[in-house]
Amino acid sequence: MLVRNFSIIAHVDHGKSTLADRILEKLGAMGERDKRDQTLDTLELERERGITIKSTPVRLTYHRPLREDGTGGEVYTFNLIDTPGHVDFNYEVSRSLAACEGVLLLVDASQGVEAQTIVNAYLAIDNNLEIVPVVNKIDLPAADPQGAAQELEDVIGIPAEDAVFASGKTGEGVEQILEAIVERIPPPPGDPQAPLKALIFDSFYDAYQGVILFVRVLEGTVRAKDRMMTYSNGKSFEVDKVGTFTPGLIVAEELSAGSVGWIAAGIKDIHDAQVGDTITSKDQPTTDPFPGFKPAQPVVFSGLYPTDTEDYRKLREALERLKLNDAAFVFEPETSEALGFGFRCGFLGLLHAEIIQERLEREYDLDLIATAPAVVYRLTLTNGETFETQNPAEFPTRDRIETMEEPYIKLSIMLPEEFVGPVMQLLQERRGAMITMNYVGKRVELLYEVPFAEILYDFHDRLKSISRGYASMDYEQIGYREGDLVKVDIMVQGETVDALAVIVHRDKAYSLGRKIVDKMAEVIPRQLFPVPVQATIGGKIIARATVKAYRKDVLAKCYGGDISRKKKLLEKQKKGRARMKNIGTVEVPQEAFLAVLSTD
Ligand code: GDP
Ligand code: MG
Repeated sequence: MLVRNFSIIAHVDHGKSTLADRILEKLGAMGERDKRDQTLDTLELERERGITIKSTPVRLTYHRPLREDGTGGEVYTFNLIDTPGHVDFNYEVSRSLAACEGVLLLVDASQGVEAQTIVNAYLAIDNNLEIVPVVNKIDLPAADPQGAAQELEDVIGIPAEDAVFASGKTGEGVEQILEAIVERIPPPPGDPQAPLKALIFDSFYDAYQGVILFVRVLEGTVRAKDRMMTYSNGKSFEVDKVGTFTPGLIVAEELSAGSVGWIAAGIKDIHDAQVGDTITSKDQPTTDPFPGFKPAQPVVFSGLYPTDTEDYRKLREALERLKLNDAAFVFEPETSEALGFGFRCGFLGLLHAEIIQERLEREYDLDLIATAPAVVYRLTLTNGETFETQNPAEFPTRDRIETMEEPYIKLSIMLPEEFVGPVMQLLQERRGAMITMNYVGKRVELLYEVPFAEILYDFHDRLKSISRGYASMDYEQIGYREGDLVKVDIMVQGETVDALAVIVHRDKAYSLGRKIVDKMAEVIPRQLFPVPVQATIGGKIIARATVKAYRKDVLAKCYGGDISRKKKLLEKQKKGRARMKNIGTVEVPQEAFLAVLSTD
């Protein structure tokens, strides 16, 4: 069988999904994909946000056209493996790529190379993949196809003359792309007789069959009834069924070296067989597992509390359900004086956190209060112990701490030259240190080391606004560096509210304290009496603001005429109330808990 395994990678919005649909249509799989969209559990959120959260492989058949010289006419099996398009899921991207021999690297002909183009291209290079550069959207009036191809050469070193020019909108160039896949991407290697070695690149939980593993078989063959073993933990399972994606799940007799498919083995816990791990045979294990397996680690934590304490059990059940399908998501019970019973949850990044929260609210009909996201800090205590914490409530007092470290990232930003000044200033405000700066025609690539916590709060929005939307960014974690951290407590009406505390670098503590109390004074509804809000460090007040007393004439104005306006106001209040928590006699809305994230 003639096989090609490939993926499409691109900066967000450069046309990956559109081109994939065009390829599917051309190879006659469109009807089936539509069917699948209705039958399989594709996430509604994914479509709305236009991002790929879960990778979905598709198996296609390409009948190579017969040429005049008598060549061609062969039938190829293409496995197109989709990848998530967001940095939160970069580990999964890199595993999906490891299941391929090549990629189509798309660049929008009107935008050129962007930050994620570069990061994705390097992921492909690191996985030794053949890169087919595709300059896409050539139908756009603002397209500069030659310029985009030249940028690929200048920035990444891919020869400009290798570029295929295409449009996912008009379908132009799609035939050349299919030919390039056959000619340039190598066939999968591997020996079907060797001991089994298969890479897990995705999975999902099915209520009847247990965990369904998406695998790329690198060596050997796997069939129903085989005893398989997950390499990292030595757990063994009997294979129930194997199959391929067409694109629904179709049962097959076997999967052998080179193929992409799925395995069901009655695995009940997704943590037993995680993305990146190697599957081998229990009786004849491989000696050469797929390298570099590490279970995905959550890096951002936040507390989730039901606004209605009655919903605690419902929230726990919902979290358990979500965890079944998401090995990277963790949670444990936590109690807050202010918010009552809730859960401390860990995520791969802010987008992952938002997705989980939205799903809880939408699919499980829960109203939640989320506390400010925090990264994981590493402390050495005066008694010699090391201590990792992401929870401000657990942060020890200064006298117990010997050294403090915080996580750093390597941030890469692409932007037009004219915005370099203001963006460098923003990075300096965020405690960034420049690594390099490269010119690419009239654009610049900036590489910085920045504390991760500094980009959690509103960084992307600020970057976009000061570059009028032109700058793009991507990042990777690079480990820990020392930092002088403090805990800022927030008091409402003289009482410390534990769930509002944040950990922050000392240089930022005063401005952040100011920002939080100002924002809170703005969003806490007025009472009959003035409510003081204060920020403190170690009991010392660093900022204060007051929620002014309620003035009756403010609402009275509405009662005069406009009825629909009054109705709207009441509706708004009703909605708002669901997302409030009483702290003492004061109602504190969700916004106050996320005051630290506000951009103004
Ligand atoms: P993705 O984020 O890379 O998956 O990008 P999408 O496929 O969702 O496309 C992003 C936007 O660009 C959408 O509004 C598409 O309609 C548009 N688009 C995609 N391909 C083309 C193309 O070849 N030509 C034009 N003019 N627009 C395109
Ligand atoms: Mg897309």
